[in-house]
Amino acid sequence: MAVILFGAPGSGKGTQARLLEQWAGIPQISTGDILRQHVAARDEIGVQVARIMDSGLLAPDELIHTVIRERVGQPDCAAGFILDGFPRTLAQACFLAGLLKEKHLGEVVIHLVVDYNVIIARLAARRQCPRCGALYNLISNPPQTDALCDRDGSALVARDDDREEVIRRRMREYENETKPILEYFRAAGFRIFDLEASHDAPEALFERIRRLIEADV
Ligand code: AMP
Repeated sequence: MAVILFGAPGSGKGTQARLLEQWAGIPQISTGDILRQHVAARDEIGVQVARIMDSGLLAPDELIHTVIRERVGQPDCAAGFILDGFPRTLAQACFLAGLLKEKHLGEVVIHLVVDYNVIIARLAARRQCPRCGALYNLISNPPQTDALCDRDGSALVARDDDREEVIRRRMREYENETKPILEYFRAAGFRIFDLEASHDAPEALFERIRRLIEADV
């Protein structure tokens, strides 16, 4: 099965995707993480998307389709995967529907609904490990040692695109390009669960998601 984590930047998709990955044993696929790896490697894709990401706009659909096709073609994705940050446009949603059909995979959409003000506060406090990708929040989920990753001791960093003016543009992209996909999902008969996710701690939210998925399969 494909689990599609859907929601605004900062709605908790990445954190929930990692918890789901541990529980369900199917890999998390974050297009944002994949693109950031390309940017860090300064390869062809990285050079193409660095500025786009830095300004809070969306990378081109064709490039995202290539990245996704390559990733879901790997053996660990045969039984399913967890999508975090994809699809983000109508074209990507159509591409995904075709891909799932091709692979005979079912799908469930978990739509995380979070207040705008909560999102802004969360993103400002967000930190990530540049080596393993672990996510922290300085207020709600701080690392054990000041600003160092609990897993590998790397110095945590704030993402370049977690600056206030960039956050606003990412939120606009979400409203204009990404949110309309929900209508496409509904019309295509995808199962969608809307979850109010502004206030729960990550573990409590995960329990709700786990119960929904267990009841659904
Ligand atoms: P994220 O880590 O999911 O917040 O993504 C960070 C940035 O990567 C976004 O603001 C976009 O510039 C780019 N990006 C990630 N996923 C996609 C996607 N599915 N389509 C287009 N751009 C994306």
